[in-house]
Amino acid sequence: MEFSERQARIVEIVKNSSPITGEQIAAKLDLTRATLRPDLTILTMAGVLDARPRVGYFLKEQKESSPIMEQLRLLRVGDFKSLPISVRESISIYDAIVTMFTQNVGTLTVVGENQNLKGMVSRKDLLKSALGKTDLQQVPVSIIMTRMPNIIMTTADEPILDAARKLTLHQIDSLPVVEAFIDEKGEERYEVIGRFTKTNVARIFVQIGTLGKQ
Ligand code: ADP
Repeated sequence: MEFSERQARIVEIVKNSSPITGEQIAAKLDLTRATLRPDLTILTMAGVLDARPRVGYFLKEQKESSPIMEQLRLLRVGDFKSLPISVRESISIYDAIVTMFTQNVGTLTVVGENQNLKGMVSRKDLLKSALGKTDLQQVPVSIIMTRMPNIIMTTADEPILDAARKLTLHQIDSLPVVEAFIDEKGEERYEVIGRFTKTNVARIFVQIGTLGKQ
């Protein structure tokens, strides 16, 4: 399990002084109870800590994960991905902006022949180029895109938790979903077959929460 720095410190404190109340943990960390609440909730939901009313927190003896976490780990990108919205490298920055509006997306994948992944272009990439003196009608999007091999990708069989971790770790909104293939020169290429975005993650979260309420 990958804890954040603060979560690791909370676990350490609970290990050494349980049962311990949220207030006491907060005091040891020099933080308020309110600041700590999300971490305590997540650690409890994930089955690391247990909380007894009026007693406090202690470490769960058997770290069996909660049923919802078990289920979440089984979900794969392929079942939740969206269709890719792709443009060619030669398209102008101006047309890329128009495509973003008409297709209602925040990130475009840039592809060559056979949907071969070349790069990604985000809203801020386009805004940045619009701030300068660039001739938006003339300059191709390939000039401003983030290009291979620097693209963070996912595949249909990757667990959504791992894909979502890539989104947060790399601070990006969207991952192209790809299938690797070998081109005629014997080089590995990636065919874009979808996109997995922060919106997909939010949708899964809302659906589980909403259905669970009934
Ligand atoms: P925005 O910049 O519009 O908020 P992002 O946070 O997704 O959107 O993009 C930040 C930067 O990362 C941009 O320069 C973009 O080109 C690049 N980028 C977007 N998606 C990816 C990706 N999957 N892999 C690598 N770089 C990416």
